[in-house]
Amino acid sequence: MCAKSTTPHLETLLAQAGCGRDASTGALAMPIYQVATFQHPALGQSTGFDYSRTSNPTRLALEQTLAAAEGGVRSFAFASGMAALDCVVRLFRPGDELVLTEDLYGGTYRLLEQIVRPLGITAHYVDTSQPAQVAEALARPGVRAVLLETPSNPLLKIADIRAIAAQARARGQLTIVDNTFLTFANLRPLAMGADLAVYSASKYLGGHNDVIAGVVVAGSPELADRLAFLQNATGAILGPQDSWLLLRGLKTLPLRLERQQRNAQLLAEWLARHPRVTAVHYPGLPGHPGGALLAAEKSGCGAMISFAVASAAQAPEVLRRVRVFRFAESLGGVESLITYPCQQTHADIPAALRARLGIHDRLLRLSVGIEHIDDLRADLENAL
Ligand SMILES: *Cc1c(COP(=O)(O)O)cnc(C)c1O
Repeated sequence: MCAKSTTPHLETLLAQAGCGRDASTGALAMPIYQVATFQHPALGQSTGFDYSRTSNPTRLALEQTLAAAEGGVRSFAFASGMAALDCVVRLFRPGDELVLTEDLYGGTYRLLEQIVRPLGITAHYVDTSQPAQVAEALARPGVRAVLLETPSNPLLKIADIRAIAAQARARGQLTIVDNTFLTFANLRPLAMGADLAVYSASKYLGGHNDVIAGVVVAGSPELADRLAFLQNATGAILGPQDSWLLLRGLKTLPLRLERQQRNAQLLAEWLARHPRVTAVHYPGLPGHPGGALLAAEKSGCGAMISFAVASAAQAPEVLRRVRVFRFAESLGGVESLITYPCQQTHADIPAALRARLGIHDRLLRLSVGIEHIDDLRADLENAL
């Protein structure tokens, strides 16, 4: 029988991330190349590495793993998710317009409004779970790209990436997906027609609340070349130590997510029945308008839940009473976290806009970890 070369499954690819790349020692794990510059064999010759801003072996192992995992041409690792997004917005010019998901990460809103708008690049925010709103926004003459957060943050609305990417492509516009919440373990935007996938790797990819990092994966050689230029020219690269931490975290991503999503589903169902909870947002709940889109892609529903309590006074009370859930910003780690979006992650969004979006003072957001479900449930029961 002929041996067929098959592409490994994601679990295999990630479990062996960085393995066996150092032929001189046989090191199984990827070494940390804590080095700034590389000696040239001769004038005009290079080992492939010249200076670590341009390329570093530990970062390259990470970037190659991420490109393969996402099914992209090339990936780029940055010092944070915001640095990754800052690099992406540099693809645009004064006069360009962008369309974004309206309930998005507060830091992205701040970047677009306080850094990018003064440069002459305008952002329009729409409910990207509503195809008619997206179509209308993309029809504006100056629009060059759409940046989707799906599920949105913190209301967990789902956008139809395939339909939106097809519309944008027909108009010569880029589709960029911030895939931080679901990750390539659930959903691969590039295979669905998107041009770029962006990550805050500080969340699920790292997975242990111990590293800040960002990633951009390019779906075409042209975009890869432009991003390689921008990453080197602006320099907000991920260092070798943090690249190594991220490689280490990635190995267990599918396992972690499986457990986190199972815990989240059980908690969302339990919260939906709780008498002191007035609303629960989770794509895995029956009747969630985006659930079918995720099911059609064979995607899990993620491990983020937001829910509303009956009164504004009750929200801080819950934050004060939790013991297993840790009251902290961020998400995606093995430890369960609870946050208060209106005063934390979304504080930079003007109050009137927050009110219109439904990010009110009774809304709490959970990032569900890998702890035992009984402990998580008991903790919320006690806090509520
Ligand atoms: C956290 C986050 C970011 C920003 O990433 P950092 O790593 O904190 O800089 C961007 N987008 C989303 C969806 C996030 O959750």
